Amino acid sequence: MAAEHRAWIALGANLGDIRSSLRGALAALAALPGSRLAAVSPWYRSRAIGPHDQPDYINGVAELRTTLGPHALLAELQRIEAAAGRERSERWAARTLDLDLLLFDALVIASDGLVVPHAHLAERNFVVFPLCDIAPRLRLPDGTRVTELRERLGNAGLLATFATLEQLDD
Ligand code: ATP
Ligand code: CA
Ligand code: CA
Ligand code: CA
Repeated sequence: MAAEHRAWIALGANLGDIRSSLRGALAALAALPGSRLAAVSPWYRSRAIGPHDQPDYINGVAELRTTLGPHALLAELQRIEAAAGRERSERWAARTLDLDLLLFDALVIASDGLVVPHAHLAERNFVVFPLCDIAPRLRLPDGTRVTELRERLGNAGLLATFATLEQLDD
């Protein structure tokens, strides 16, 4: 049997039917070959970064146990985004679904199409908070505790939390 890896994936959406996009993304992750969802965080409503006025985001993090390698997993994430109707336009534009690979075991990857840990992980509280919720003992490959990042970042811009997608208000 191929070895099972631990991958942490950030999910975000701020357009369209957010609840069903995120629910569909979780189902699609669980259905990937050799993969199962090990944990899903609470959901955070956060103020959008990026160009123009945008609706707030809903962000969360899932832990996937998978036999896929990191590049194959990224390709699957991009396929799931595309299937959710995401249009690639300018960077940080509003989107129906964004799936970022945050961490993959304790690997450090710096290739053209894939950087792990995710390049902006340590500066985004809307990712670090849900990550800490499901993996409070986790450390980055350099040894930094995710809970230390959470303390450093504080909760500015985090507007509300929801234990489940069912509790999202519209
Ligand atoms: P940000 O990277 O700031 O979160 P974004 O999510 O809006 O911005 P995208 O347009 O979704 O950016 O992705 C841009 C590119 O980032 C993708 O084509 C992908 O190849 C690359 N990329 C590099 N590392 C990662 C990673 N760890 N997870 C997801 N995409 C990555
Ligand atoms: Ca599965
Ligand atoms: Ca992103
Ligand atoms: Ca992305």
